[in-house]
Amino acid sequence: MTVPKYTSEFLAKRFLNSNRDHIREKLPIKDPKGQRARDYQQKMLRKKAKEYLPYRLEYYAKLYGYRYDEVKLSHANTRWGSCTSDRTITLNIGLMKVPEQLRDYVILHELAHLNHPDHSNAFWAEVELHDKNYKKHRKVLNTMYNPGV
Ligand SMILES: [Zn+2]
Repeated sequence: MTVPKYTSEFLAKRFLNSNRDHIREKLPIKDPKGQRARDYQQKMLRKKAKEYLPYRLEYYAKLYGYRYDEVKLSHANTRWGSCTSDRTITLNIGLMKVPEQLRDYVILHELAHLNHPDHSNAFWAEVELHDKNYKKHRKVLNTMYNPGV
């Protein structure tokens, strides 16, 4: 009897296919289909964010004369953005799911941190300079949206 070369691969694949559901059950992921959908959604969101957020940040930085060193994207569960003392601005890819004016508010908020590392009155005055409705935007963002979703 001759055994075709592809047999072992074929059998391995068949084994994987017939046991796939069983193997999945062993994984800690409770809902594999939902998890895959979320992974895909996050991948697309990251792609969209990469093509948009760095340019939007650059646009406002140029418009209002800010200088930052680097922009990073994150998908943190708790924050929309951050700004470090070495002038790195991080923006959450979840911003692609919120209305533009709220997205812009976060960008302007992080840019203002380049001059004020705190949330002092001077900081908020600078945010207000570029976003007159920042209080409303901040409130809507914090009550209606979640960066982790
Ligand atoms: Zn802040």
